[in-house]
Amino acid sequence: MKQTKGGKSTSRRMIEKTIPLVLNPGKEKKKYLNTAQAKIVSFANQLLPFTNQAKSLNQFHHLVYRKHKYLGIQSQVQEAVQRRVYVAKKAKLFRNLPLEFNFPRSGNLKFTSQGHPILSLSPLKKRTAFPVKMNGGWYRLRDHAKGGWEVHSCIVFKNNRQWVAHLVVRRPLPPVQEVEGTIGVDIGRKVAAAYTLNHPCFPLVEQYLGKDLAWKQHQFLKRRALLQRHASHGSVSARRALKRLRYREKNYVQTRCAQIAHEIVDLAVLTRSAIVVEDVTHLRKKWTKQATKGKHGAKRTRRQLNKWPYRVLLYKLIRLAQLHNIPVIPVHPHFTSQTCSCCGKRSKHSRTTRNLYRCHFCGFEVHADRNASRNISLLGKYQQGLKLFSPWHSYLPVPYERLTSCYPVSVVEVPSTTSNGTMSGSIPVD
Ligand SMILES: [Zn+2]
Repeated sequence: MKQTKGGKSTSRRMIEKTIPLVLNPGKEKKKYLNTAQAKIVSFANQLLPFTNQAKSLNQFHHLVYRKHKYLGIQSQVQEAVQRRVYVAKKAKLFRNLPLEFNFPRSGNLKFTSQGHPILSLSPLKKRTAFPVKMNGGWYRLRDHAKGGWEVHSCIVFKNNRQWVAHLVVRRPLPPVQEVEGTIGVDIGRKVAAAYTLNHPCFPLVEQYLGKDLAWKQHQFLKRRALLQRHASHGSVSARRALKRLRYREKNYVQTRCAQIAHEIVDLAVLTRSAIVVEDVTHLRKKWTKQATKGKHGAKRTRRQLNKWPYRVLLYKLIRLAQLHNIPVIPVHPHFTSQTCSCCGKRSKHSRTTRNLYRCHFCGFEVHADRNASRNISLLGKYQQGLKLFSPWHSYLPVPYERLTSCYPVSVVEVPSTTSNGTMSGSIPVD
């Protein structure tokens, strides 16, 4: 997902992954790591006053690099610290910083003569080998190495009295494959993801995924509120339970989002389809602003909006799609929920309730999220220049004559008269 910054390999886009390893250093080596970390933290704090004097990272580097060159920190590690300090300009004091290594210049992965893996790192000028625990992480790394992933860099830090190395492996992004259909995904609050498969050779597949997410988040909220009330009255067990609850919600949301993303991407791989999503990042700000304005229920709406794992789900989807060479098409979110996916006409009043969409023009009734996901899948096809085809016309609950009589002929035949945001251009003519 990330594009490489600087260096020689800028022209190829890379996909990155992080694999955690546990280090197993002896007493002396632990001491060495501790000293190195203390040194870079003090170095970072020395650099902080200079951040305001530089306009770019490059300028910052020239300003500070030579002055501090003789501190005994390895030059690659030093540059990494500079970068971190420059990015965190507003920080007042660093208490903890990870050691960052660049393969193969300041670190490398090697084997002992017995075949045990070691990380050879040089945080200070002396290069030292740190044994790696052969746990699940190590085997995962080995499997990735077989699949053509290369170790690019790593960060080393202390976590629960253990030294941990997060290795960044990467691989060039393969060219995206040719697609025949689209999967329109409507990411919503009540239904985490409603999708529609629009494909000439496959039957219509429509699903609502992750209906449990918002409900479960609300359950967590209720439980936390109760426990907090007890804890404020001095209950020790409630405080203990609160501690246990801390990461449970996050874990739940992350896991469910990953499962949903997997389900959609699996279907895309199977049917050779592109994934179409709405780009609503800027809309979210607007919604939050609107929610803060109201009097009643404003707090509740705001809370729901802030808890909405839109970005988590979207990023998981994009990343997973990239791993499988599936293209992801962002479309403009305007009017996808107001437009009728059957006749293509738009009306604000067609969405009668939260869940129901009833078209004012053709009487077409459909679940609102499903309607939006159908529109998104069609918009994606329209943008990709694929052959337009909407399979849901055979599933209509309204009589055929009624449908044909209200077909907006003018809109269908002259797509250029309306703006790009509407669905008009993508309506199939039977
Ligand atoms: Zn309609």
